[in-house]
Amino acid sequence: MSEVSNDSVQVIDEAKEFQRDSVKAYLSKVSPNDMGLDYHVISVFGSQSTGKSTLLNALFHTKFDVMNEAQRQQTTKGIWLGFSPKVESHSTSLGKEHVFVMDVEGSDGRERGEDQDFERKAALFALATSEVLIVNIWEHQVGLYQGANMGLLKTVFEVNLSLFGDKDHKMLLLFVIRDHVGSTPLENLSNTLTQDLHKMWNDIAKPSTVASDTPLSKYFDLEFVGLSHKVLQEHQFHEDVRSLGDRFTPGDENYLFKKDYHQAFPIDGWSVYAENCWNQIQSNKDLDLPTQQILVARFRCDEIIKETLELFDSEFEHTFGGVKLDGLKGASLADEFKKLLQLSLSTYDLQAGHYNKEVYTSKRDALTKSINSKLLTLFKEFIKELSKSAFSEFTQSLNDKSTKATFLERSTDAKTIALTSFSQELEPVNELDPETFTYQNELEEFSSKLQEQIQRSREQEINTLTSRIAKKLVPSLKNETVDSFAAPDIEMWDRVLDSFRELLKLSLSKYQTSDSTYDFKLGCSPEENDRIVQKIGKESWLSFDNFIHDYLRPDNVVNILKRQFDEVFTYDNTGIPRVWKNETEISSAYREASQHALKSLPLLSIAKLSNDSEIIPDYDIYDDEDEEDVHPHRFSHILSAPEQLRVKKDFLKQAEVSYRDASRSIISNISK
Ligand code: GDP
Ligand code: MG
Repeated sequence: MSEVSNDSVQVIDEAKEFQRDSVKAYLSKVSPNDMGLDYHVISVFGSQSTGKSTLLNALFHTKFDVMNEAQRQQTTKGIWLGFSPKVESHSTSLGKEHVFVMDVEGSDGRERGEDQDFERKAALFALATSEVLIVNIWEHQVGLYQGANMGLLKTVFEVNLSLFGDKDHKMLLLFVIRDHVGSTPLENLSNTLTQDLHKMWNDIAKPSTVASDTPLSKYFDLEFVGLSHKVLQEHQFHEDVRSLGDRFTPGDENYLFKKDYHQAFPIDGWSVYAENCWNQIQSNKDLDLPTQQILVARFRCDEIIKETLELFDSEFEHTFGGVKLDGLKGASLADEFKKLLQLSLSTYDLQAGHYNKEVYTSKRDALTKSINSKLLTLFKEFIKELSKSAFSEFTQSLNDKSTKATFLERSTDAKTIALTSFSQELEPVNELDPETFTYQNELEEFSSKLQEQIQRSREQEINTLTSRIAKKLVPSLKNETVDSFAAPDIEMWDRVLDSFRELLKLSLSKYQTSDSTYDFKLGCSPEENDRIVQKIGKESWLSFDNFIHDYLRPDNVVNILKRQFDEVFTYDNTGIPRVWKNETEISSAYREASQHALKSLPLLSIAKLSNDSEIIPDYDIYDDEDEEDVHPHRFSHILSAPEQLRVKKDFLKQAEVSYRDASRSIISNISK
């Protein structure tokens, strides 16, 4: 890397190499950050030692090397670039331009015959990269083809056309006539030069891409300025320089920097462009300028995107690193997303906004996409966390039985609230970019998860309701049936069955609607409500069955029989306890009483209606037990034959005890 000073930088060195690093370093050092497109590039062209550098330094306050009179020392060959700290002018109030000035140092090729190549390339380079080319000539050379460098200019124009002919913007050729004495008016000199230029332009071989009648004015504007002799009229020279400087000052009526001269790159893009131009000149590759501009734009926009993404990553980490997503509100997540996106895009825009519009726009889209995809990953995690917390809130209010609300009301409200707040949390982020930050699938998933939970809870509610109704049935049933069981008769089971059915109907009547269907306020369909009716019926029958089989278990039946026996044996038909007179009386009463009691045994052993049919449950209440055990008469068959025998035996045993007690009471009466 060649040396970088604040004064100037070597753009092309003696070895004809473009000094990328030095140029980059120099530009970032001297150019203001906010410069954007607000800068100009001026170059100079002309023979050796015609005071070019002297002029540039006087006009732009640059510090290019000037031939030292005393030593006549050759300065370092190459192309130099300097940033003008100030343009010399009369003005103190007008604006100020950012001007980059390029100076060419070289041997005089035509005299030495050795380096026409460099001279031509340098001129071509100046032509391709500048807005204004100062053509520096002595007054006395005007009209002399060789002396005014017209030959070189012709070559340069030709190559320029073939290399950059598609260029659709102009530049200014500013002829500065040195040592202008004033005897020949400037107008005459400029007419001569204009004629020469047009003649030269017509002679130029145009490439096929350029129409042969294309006028010079398509590519170049022409301006002419005369400068006094620097040594002989030093004061006037500086006065002329100031007048020229006025024309580089914004607001001047003869302002020279026209807008369409600009290459339309920010300065860092200009350096990439300049390097490409140099490479193209060096290798003489036939590339057109629009392609160049696009290549440069792509290259720089990619670089800027890389930097922007690095910035984004670190800001992203700064904002979300270690942040718990479940404590975050959707609106603040959206705010942070928006900030990050805006920061990134404005960073990109600031630097890339001046490049080729199409490239800038499409790269901006790509940048937005890759930022959005990173944000999207976080958004999806956020949705997951939100689903979890919203679901547990939902479950809580679903199970909250502190209010009077029915299950249907509770579940409907809880679901509506959960879905609304779920969407509300996500909507602000979605609004940032509705196509990217979607949550429709997650919302549907969440909704069906809620629905499943409602379904599970509803099943529980149904089970609770069913077993509550079935269990409540037994005490009432017991109240209404124990009297019948105490004194069995042929219509006993009709009454028991009627009672049961009445009680069941009564429990269900609470849920009956006006059109005599059922609604249990659980948010069920008519079919589901029917299913619940069936379930309650079945469950109730099971309770009924349990009650019957529990109440009429063998030992209890023995007790019932014994009580029936006692009623006849212990009391006479007026209800007064008997006093036994003799053994015959006892045995006759015993016979009567035991026959009376044993008549009840078949009535209590099998649940048969007065029409002689066994009671068969309305539902298949045993279906969940082992196949082999299933027996349609299980309900009605209360005591089996062996059980009945056993009951009979136990009963008789107890009856005999009463009999013997009665016998003993006679003996004791007699013995008294
Ligand atoms: P360049 O590098 O070829 O552009 O020329 P320099 O700026 O290095 O100057 C070359 C010589 O010309 C120096 O000795 C200057 O003093 C001298 N010089 C500079 N300006 C003028 C001028 O306006 N008129 C004349 N006659 N000589 C000048
Ligand atoms: Mg010089």
